[in-house]
Amino acid sequence: MNKYRLCTIDVGKNTHILEDYRFEDGILGPIDLAINLHLNKYKSYQYDVYSPLNAIIFGKGPFTGGALIGMHRLTFIFRSPQSSTLHVSSVGGVGYRFMNSGLDAVSIVGKGRKPTILVIYSEPDCRLNIVYDSISKSELEDVFEGFNGFKGVYALTYYLLNRYGEYIRRYRLRPILIGPASIYTINGAIFSFDIGFHNLSIRPGSEDSAARGGGGSVLYNAHNVVAILVGGLCEKALFKDRKWVDELIRQLFNSSYGDIIMKTTEKYKYSSKLGTGGTFGVNYIMYRDLIPVFGYNMIYLSRFLRLRLNEYILKYFWSPFNKIVSRESRNWFTCGEPCPVTCKKVYNGKKVDYEPFNALGPYIGVFIFEDTLKLVEYADSLGFDIIELGHVIAWIFDVVKNGLLKPGEIGLSDHPRFDPLTYRPNDSHKNMELACEVIDGLIKKDNWILRMISDYGLRYTVKKLDEAYRDRVLDKNISFKDLAVYVAYGEYGYMSINFYWTPGMLAPLYILGRYWTNYHPTFMSPEEYAASSLERALMEYLIDNSGLCRFHRGWGEKVLPILYSKLLNTDIDLKKHALRMYSLIRLYSIKAGAEPRYWEGKKVKDIIATIAGEIEVEEWAKKFSEDLEEGLRGWWSRFNDYIVRTLEG
Ligand code: SF4
Repeated sequence: MNKYRLCTIDVGKNTHILEDYRFEDGILGPIDLAINLHLNKYKSYQYDVYSPLNAIIFGKGPFTGGALIGMHRLTFIFRSPQSSTLHVSSVGGVGYRFMNSGLDAVSIVGKGRKPTILVIYSEPDCRLNIVYDSISKSELEDVFEGFNGFKGVYALTYYLLNRYGEYIRRYRLRPILIGPASIYTINGAIFSFDIGFHNLSIRPGSEDSAARGGGGSVLYNAHNVVAILVGGLCEKALFKDRKWVDELIRQLFNSSYGDIIMKTTEKYKYSSKLGTGGTFGVNYIMYRDLIPVFGYNMIYLSRFLRLRLNEYILKYFWSPFNKIVSRESRNWFTCGEPCPVTCKKVYNGKKVDYEPFNALGPYIGVFIFEDTLKLVEYADSLGFDIIELGHVIAWIFDVVKNGLLKPGEIGLSDHPRFDPLTYRPNDSHKNMELACEVIDGLIKKDNWILRMISDYGLRYTVKKLDEAYRDRVLDKNISFKDLAVYVAYGEYGYMSINFYWTPGMLAPLYILGRYWTNYHPTFMSPEEYAASSLERALMEYLIDNSGLCRFHRGWGEKVLPILYSKLLNTDIDLKKHALRMYSLIRLYSIKAGAEPRYWEGKKVKDIIATIAGEIEVEEWAKKFSEDLEEGLRGWWSRFNDYIVRTLEG
């Protein structure tokens, strides 16, 4: 554990090189490495986002080996086709297999001539092998259409199990792969499934994805890579000293390791007080009427009406899940690493999490759980980032509801039921059918607007539509941009936000679309909010950089500084380190022309203003009611100034 090993694979030349980095030089994990490579070596900000120099870098933290629980995520870093700047996205449990490759990180550059499959594994003596294989585009498309009774990413996984079964079993490999959404849209996720080696099948609940930011689209379009199998039998440099960990935890928390994990992760396992567990189970109970539904249009409703919608959600959406998952079957699994939290709650074979289920559930006007289940399964099989997909669908429904487009003009067969005032839960079925039409249209690209969304994203599309339909915009007194919910970067970059009613998700920060911000439903002065958001962003940086699962942050954040100093013998102030690296992310964004821009649509501004009123922060609620635009600009600018000042140090 005295160096961080990178393998750079050029899939254009079928070559690889190994390089070792020293922790004391400030490379503490995959994000540090990726920022340095993108800024100084590849200079990817100069090129098209699908340039082969837009390296996909993925890596684990330095503390893998099994003794430390929750330390086995694999973090991906790339320049995002959505935000146009660097993005970070991670996937659970993959580090648990990747650690036996003998590598800490992989950088993929170049572009394969054919759709490429990489097999990266090591022998027991840690000798590294890389197999460069390929699949024709037509065979890949056939596989996505159906293999072994499965479709999309599931089918490709079974294809890999079939083709490389012997390797997978012998070298304990885990697949990382893309689906059709990565080929046809800028919204493709990177998927991974843990494998049951005895019967070569997907282990239930272990499906996970580094979904946000379009990493799958970069993997395919920049590098022509469709799948990577990683693992091996190398045991060197793994940290396995459980006794040391037990002792450390006892000193820090005066508690056993098992107890502190259970105490700090209760929400994700099971809360007996709430009678539920996991993000889906807990959030609908905890946030109630603050949950974003109907494309954030609930911000325009009274609390009374929002609570009525929440009653629908609890009855038709949450209860069916909770009855089965929390009480009857208790099918709880892990992401792939042995972890007592078993946060993966599985309903009828499908893992249920808050964000994707809200995205294709109440957020798009689908309140019947089984309807959302079908949608999530379908979208997952196609390999979409479902949060972004939910935003696209909700925006389309809103655009039609507001009369800016007729259903047929955007590939819909009917009007969605998207008015919360007249909505009844039975309207779910109609909205589910229409959502399927959107999903199919994004892949088939048989409608010019859907094609534009697939190729260039939502922000580019709203700008073009505002020009193309200027008369309608004037007539309806609302623009396409007004109905979209995203944070803007540069000219066309954007990131759709996670489902929390909070200014933190929309604030001028450099990596959003995840939890690198203060995401609590709260409001404060811009400086105070910026300070709390930056502090959270830096902590999340350290979490992702170390491969720690954020569900373990309750104890993990306190342990990280000790791990770096005692296990790696580094004398680095982690907070200062994270601040320095975050300022390099900002530098990259400036070079890429993708700095945060002021809020540009009405709904985004209303999300900010309404939460100030909701939380009853009098000073700002008053400012917003006197002059909304001036108040918002003032808040945004002061927030931004604080961040820039702090980063410039
Ligand atoms: S809490 Fe869940 S995602 Fe995190 S390590 Fe445990 S099983 Fe994996």
